Amino acid sequence: MPDRDLEVGPALLDWYDRHRRVLPWRSAPGAASDPYAVWLSEIMLQQTTVAAVKPYFAAFLAAWPTVRDLAAAPLDDILKAWAGLGYYSRARNLHACARAIVDQHGGRFPPDEVGLRSLPGIGPYTAAAIAAIAFGQRAVVVDGNVERVMARLCAVEEPLPAARPRLHAAMNRVTPQSRTGDFAQAVMDLGATICTPRSPACVLCPLIALCDARRLGLQADLPRKSKKAKVPQRGGAVFIVHRSDGCVLVRQRPPEGLFGGMTEFPSTPWTEQHDAEHSPTRPVGLEKLEGPFVPVGTVEHGLTHFHLTLHVYAIRTDRQSFEGCRWIAVDALAGEALPTLMRKVARFAQGLNSETSTLANTPEPEPQITLPVQSDCPKINLPHPKSQAPNEFRTRHMPQRGRSRTTPSA
Ligand code: SF4
Repeated sequence: MPDRDLEVGPALLDWYDRHRRVLPWRSAPGAASDPYAVWLSEIMLQQTTVAAVKPYFAAFLAAWPTVRDLAAAPLDDILKAWAGLGYYSRARNLHACARAIVDQHGGRFPPDEVGLRSLPGIGPYTAAAIAAIAFGQRAVVVDGNVERVMARLCAVEEPLPAARPRLHAAMNRVTPQSRTGDFAQAVMDLGATICTPRSPACVLCPLIALCDARRLGLQADLPRKSKKAKVPQRGGAVFIVHRSDGCVLVRQRPPEGLFGGMTEFPSTPWTEQHDAEHSPTRPVGLEKLEGPFVPVGTVEHGLTHFHLTLHVYAIRTDRQSFEGCRWIAVDALAGEALPTLMRKVARFAQGLNSETSTLANTPEPEPQITLPVQSDCPKINLPHPKSQAPNEFRTRHMPQRGRSRTTPSA
């Protein structure tokens, strides 16, 4: 093993002891961490920022202080608490994992990577992170930050994702035999604060004398990435069906699949063939709705495998029941398990309601768990179905001010 690999651990650990980020799920350097807190934070941090996770982590620990509490909670409560964090299969796996730990492991996390990987929702990265950080095992922990640091430290010019095995091997070479969890967190912190994607601050870096990319002047060019395939586009129509008492119609998605078990406004299927130039067909369960749909705006949303454009329509009705749907007050939407996509749609529902709406007067913290509100949420004057003859509304008449931009979360 070259001497450089042996020097990385001590240099980074010394830096970590003085400059580590203080995070709510972390213990002091050298101290053991709570496996439940490490697991919860690692699941939440997948595809999400530290700033976004902090309030969710605090809310989960307050509601369910132990893994046994989480296992005993109804899945619906967990989905509601998770709403807005994205990638909702993580919340379902969180619940399944908590139950497996209680049912199969006596309420204690397995202390090694093999045992951890047998649990729902725990893959190689998360298993290594928990084993190293919570149990002090020597495990090789590689996330996106670590990949970037290793690509630069070793000047790996092969593009990602093909370079992953080499970057994992590089991390394995430099990982010390002791304080493995602190070392992994040190590399993550270095990647998050100094060896950042753009403009790495090499003059502040504890590895500057050891770094090949810095020596070769390649630090801003690495890691290289293969060109991404074009993201498929899909479209659909979503409907805000509302009553004069301020209630809107919602339904629950099937338990499996995208947004499984979460609350949504009724919509057509999301397809690549969606034609925004024609007025929408009524979705399943709403075939008997009378009166015109009024186009009120468009929602753009980036999902893992496609980009979605939803055309939002509103209709007022006096009918009391619709198959598979339920009525809910607009103000109560904040307590529903709405995925971020549907929270964007909910802003239009809020615009249909009175100005005294709780939602309308709720400031938008960032990040937050309660439903966000746009200050320019459109106010829409809808015709009552009895006051206007049925008509065909085409999307080219759609007002543009309610357009919402894409956020990269599911
Ligand atoms: S010297 Fe620069 S490129 Fe190398 S690890 Fe440090 S911050 Fe990253």
